[in-house]
Amino acid sequence: MSTQNTTRLTITRPDDWHLHLRDGAALEAVVADTARQFARAIIMPNLKPPVTTTEQAVAYRGRILAALAKAGGDVGAFTPLMTLYLTDNTSAEEIFRAHESGQVCAVKLYPAGATTNSDAGVTDLLGKCAKALEALEKCGMPLLVHGEVTDPSIDVFDREAIFVERVMKPLRRAFPALKVVFEHITTKEGAEYVRDAEGPIAATITPQHLLYNRNAIFQGGVRPHWYCLPILKRETHRQALVAAATSGSPRFFLGTDSAPHARGLKEHACGCAGCYTALHAMELYATAFDAVGKLDQLEGFASFHGPDFYGLPRNTGTLTLVRETFQIPEELPFGNTALVPLAAGETLAWRATS
Ligand SMILES: [Zn+2]
Repeated sequence: MSTQNTTRLTITRPDDWHLHLRDGAALEAVVADTARQFARAIIMPNLKPPVTTTEQAVAYRGRILAALAKAGGDVGAFTPLMTLYLTDNTSAEEIFRAHESGQVCAVKLYPAGATTNSDAGVTDLLGKCAKALEALEKCGMPLLVHGEVTDPSIDVFDREAIFVERVMKPLRRAFPALKVVFEHITTKEGAEYVRDAEGPIAATITPQHLLYNRNAIFQGGVRPHWYCLPILKRETHRQALVAAATSGSPRFFLGTDSAPHARGLKEHACGCAGCYTALHAMELYATAFDAVGKLDQLEGFASFHGPDFYGLPRNTGTLTLVRETFQIPEELPFGNTALVPLAAGETLAWRATS
């Protein structure tokens, strides 16, 4: 069924299963954008220093809600789902404490050096983290995986496909009952692995990886606001991701990976990785689904598959998208500097209303 004549789409209120909120003034600048569209979000723990304990996660949760209140957001309508940053030293006790808190929902694996603030990441997953992984498996808490090898001799465009072979498969053989979310997949290999693998596995997909291929980074010159990690791939991969996201498979769900960086840190000799999409996430996803006539699959992807995988209830509210011109702002206020949203200045054909 084509959905290209749809002019209005009401779906169950969605959740964002992969979000960076930062801290301090940056947090205050962005948190209300997410709360406007999403009922819940999985909050990434890569602060400086990283969130490695339940106590830190609970304190961070408090700062998020305080920042939302200060920004005039609806605190009662938004739930931050906290995560811990897995390190070589994370103990089984810390995992059980996190689970019992009821506020920590997952643990994030960053291979050391993979992305922003990942220096404290894991150096030897099966060697050093076996006890923590066993504890996660036992309490049914998902491990969220940044799936790229960090070996500098491997081409940056190949790092995800090689991660599947070198890390993901051995991890899941060793812990077959462990729930794993392969975060922000960007390749055909990643999508096919998640689609076909045995056992509890799922993947999040960002809006930028559904909408753009790597040409976007270089169109007319180097465009730093299209630079994220894992990096955009070639068109065949983008098409494979769109097929996965719109397939109806419960293994694929929404995770924006929205990651704010000040304009000056993106437009820089060594610019930071990350796209800011919290402002217009649902407009971007609707655009991607609409482009292939699959708007009827958006609700499952955005609102059902995530909570079902995490074992959480689906939301009860709704979000409505209307086919209406929406111009993405050139920039947004961000503390004493500015934040450039993905596709700044461009026009989309969808607008989310509350
Ligand atoms: Zn991320």
